[in-house]
Amino acid sequence: MFAIYPGSFDPITNGHLDIVIRAARLFDRLIIGVYDTPAKHLLFTTEERVDLVEKSTAHLPNVEVTAFSELVVDFARKVGAQAMVRGLRTSTDFDREFDMAMMNKQLNPELELVCLMAALKYQFLSSSLLKEAASLGGNINDLVPEYVATVLRKKVQRKM
Ligand code: ADP
Repeated sequence: MFAIYPGSFDPITNGHLDIVIRAARLFDRLIIGVYDTPAKHLLFTTEERVDLVEKSTAHLPNVEVTAFSELVVDFARKVGAQAMVRGLRTSTDFDREFDMAMMNKQLNPELELVCLMAALKYQFLSSSLLKEAASLGGNINDLVPEYVATVLRKKVQRKM
C-alpha cells in the first residue's frame, strides 16, 4: 500500500519527521507532498522546503519528496496513492482535518485518510511557532533536524 503525506512544511519539524518515520513503517512507499501554494504566508520557497524535507528524510529508503500544486486528491490520483497521511496534535487539528476529509471523500471516494496522533513531545510544535521562536533567537535545536536549524537560523537572521 502506498500513501502521500501532504503539507506546507515551512519548514519541516521533528513533529513532521516523527509522522514520516511512523508512516514509512506502515506503508510500502510514502511520498511527501510539499504544497506549492498554501493559503498562508511562507518563509521558504517551494525549492527550499523540498530541499529541507529531502535532506531530513534521506535516510528513509521508502520515502520520496515532491512538490505539488493541484488539489491534494488529484495529487494522490496522479501518483497512484491509495491513502493520505496527516498528523493530529489537538482537537483543533481534528476539526480541521474532519472538514477537509469530508470534502476530499466527496472529491475522491477511493482515497483513504490515515491520521496519526502527534507524539506527546511534539504536541505543541508547529512550523509557525518554530519560526517565531527562531526569529527571536530561541534555541530550536531539539525541534528540527540539525540541517533545518542551520538554514532556519540563517534565514531569520537575514530577515531581521
Ligand atoms: P498544512 O498547511 O497542510 O497544515 P503543515 O506543514 O502545517 O501543513 O502540516 C502538515 C501535516 O503535519 C498536518 O497534518 C499537520 O497537522 C501535521 N503536523 C504539523 N505539526 C505536527 C507535529 N508537531 N506533530 C505531528 N503532526 C504535525
